[in-house]
Amino acid sequence: MNNVYLLPIKRSEMGPALDEQIAALWAVAGFENAFAPNDLAAIKLHVGEPGTKTFASPTIAAALVKCVLSTGARPFLTDTVVLYRSPRDNAPGHAGVALAHGFTPAAVGAHFVPADGLNGSDEIIVDVERGRHFKKVSIASTVMQARSMLVLSHATGHLGCGFGGALKNLGMGCASKKAKLRQHFGQQPRINPRNCVICGECIQWCPTEAIALDKTAAIDKKKCIGCGECIAVCLAGAVHFDWTIMGRALQERMIEHAAAVVRSKSNRLCYVTVAQQITKDCDCLGLDQPPLLDDIGILAASDPVALDQAVLDLVRERAGRSLESMAYPKTDSDVQLKYAESMGLGQRAYTLVSI
Ligand code: SF4
Ligand code: SF4
Repeated sequence: MNNVYLLPIKRSEMGPALDEQIAALWAVAGFENAFAPNDLAAIKLHVGEPGTKTFASPTIAAALVKCVLSTGARPFLTDTVVLYRSPRDNAPGHAGVALAHGFTPAAVGAHFVPADGLNGSDEIIVDVERGRHFKKVSIASTVMQARSMLVLSHATGHLGCGFGGALKNLGMGCASKKAKLRQHFGQQPRINPRNCVICGECIQWCPTEAIALDKTAAIDKKKCIGCGECIAVCLAGAVHFDWTIMGRALQERMIEHAAAVVRSKSNRLCYVTVAQQITKDCDCLGLDQPPLLDDIGILAASDPVALDQAVLDLVRERAGRSLESMAYPKTDSDVQLKYAESMGLGQRAYTLVSI
């Protein structure tokens, strides 16, 4: 059975000993085997949307960079552009946000390198075996070209998937812009005019200019790609979605992209998930969100399915209820874990080892 290793530490407790504590987590997880001297080694992370503060901190990234450097590999930080309108929807803007959020070479010891080119179109087509939705998927070229990769995730709820952890970081986070669109396509929200206060916020975030304002917001179904951003930003609760269909299809499509990344790297992948300041929405929402429960710690594993399962189990144990019940109760996030297991990405059974 797979081991998942837990360093039980709160964000507020992270101090000068963090490098040593992360090095111990790294050693017990056997991560040095995933890297070889001179590997160009990606550390796939999320630098956080402007306005959010709960993303995995640069101090954790810095400690992991030191671990990767100790193998002789050459680490760099990376992420893909986003679909919605944001400074992170292009490479220079994304790199600027990384610097502004403390992911500087001086602080972290590695440069931020955008994964999918200037505007999210640098991609490599990869075959998918046994996929229900795709035979081929498009993965960010830098992710594919990196010899080895550490997937550094921040555990959160998620409006489309119920939960965002290692699998989501792999499947959605490593996909090119076109591939992200394909994952989201299919469901379209509707606006309840009685709730709409005509604030225009949804228009700012819609990636396809599908929303117009008149007496109420209205969605042009020919332009809408079903990304769900308008739901996340509408504070009036005026945007509605069929969550069950969206959740299942989106999660399966995401996992097929994750499978392509995992197969491309074989045993040169490892995973760290930060289960601190777990919020209802992911770090793409540019808001300072309150955490849903007390910090759990930092987890490490070589199996992304076991790792995500362990995070969800720990949340249930600590909070007395599931993450999805606190975030998006209508979305069943077990879908992504079961489908990932069926595609051979890992196993949901695991042994938790506290260090
Ligand atoms: S964000 Fe919500 S309330 Fe504001 S215009 Fe859009 S649908 Fe209406
Ligand atoms: S779901 Fe449709 S209308 Fe809403 S932000 Fe996405 S593309 Fe725009």
